[in-house]
Amino acid sequence: MRRPCAGRSGSRRNMRICRFASAAGTRVSSTCRPRRRRRSSPPPAGRRDMNTVPVAEIKHMAVHDGPGMRTTVFLKGCPLHCIWCHNPECISAAPELLFRAARCTACRRCEAVCPHRAHRFTLNGHEFRRGLCDGCGACAEVCPAGALTLCGRSAAAGELYDELMEDADFYRISGGGVTLSGGEPLLYPAFCRELFAVLGRAGIHRALDTSAAVPWEAFETVLPETDLLLVDFKHPDSGRHRELTGQDNRLIRENLRRLQAAGVPIEIRIPLVPGCNDAPEELEAAAGFLAELPCVVRVKLLAYHSFARSKYEAVGRPDTMPEVPSPDGDEMEAAAARLRARGLAVLL
Ligand code: SF4
Ligand code: SF4
Repeated sequence: MRRPCAGRSGSRRNMRICRFASAAGTRVSSTCRPRRRRRSSPPPAGRRDMNTVPVAEIKHMAVHDGPGMRTTVFLKGCPLHCIWCHNPECISAAPELLFRAARCTACRRCEAVCPHRAHRFTLNGHEFRRGLCDGCGACAEVCPAGALTLCGRSAAAGELYDELMEDADFYRISGGGVTLSGGEPLLYPAFCRELFAVLGRAGIHRALDTSAAVPWEAFETVLPETDLLLVDFKHPDSGRHRELTGQDNRLIRENLRRLQAAGVPIEIRIPLVPGCNDAPEELEAAAGFLAELPCVVRVKLLAYHSFARSKYEAVGRPDTMPEVPSPDGDEMEAAAARLRARGLAVLL
């Protein structure tokens, strides 16, 4: 049996070299070698193959996206624009170049290869003119410092299946599986169904992390191949939901009601964001609605944090979230108590 290597962890491909083998002076086995870096380039904007999806990231050894150890695939494209979004690189479905200026060593290789002269060096240093970039990825390929990363490689279900099955032993040992997240994976329902179907035939647990802000037909397509739904519930009031996310919550509430007939277990995920949805009356209104849904097996409260701020700069998006502290342990417990008072099982 292949032995699991504790060194294959984290979400960054360039970190997947066994830390423990080298520290212990042991040899790295053939099952423990760094993974191949997949470099399929994205097609030009507007010419994406119908059978492929834009992948932002594949995170291995995830422990917060369903039961056990999981591999989570983050897809690009989202119908909502939450002001606290932790994955701003997943909002647009188009390939995007992430530029982390602090890592740039001014080697100027990007300037040499860019066909659109999007990189320019002046007395002020490295200027990246995002408006000229078409996301071809050529500069990211040659950047030696990790300052440039192309987010949004195009991948088909079969290609992803092979990559995801590299972690099959970990799924089996831990009771884990694969989670599709984003962004909004249900923007690509046919892809989700195709991938989940082959994973299901291999006995792999499948979870879908969704905003539920999608047409019901998308759920109908993927539900027969889904073991667990992770559904965000951001605010109980439709008007406030629109202010915070760009859309009211009528479609989300309607989808949650219709999902009760499908019988697929649902974990509700509430991002607890100070000043946005953490008032007692807001939590009680959310609890009142969720307590009426029999397929909701638990509610997970996720504490807001500001770790994503640097990603806004890297992807060139304005960060409109006000400075607020993360909820502390007492605040999380108090919020959980309000939900439990309505009979909901709550995880922190
Ligand atoms: S991704 Fe392509 S177009 Fe964009 S800056 Fe890099 S080389 Fe230029
Ligand atoms: S290739 Fe990378 S390190 Fe070199 S100048 Fe461009 S961004 Fe900076």
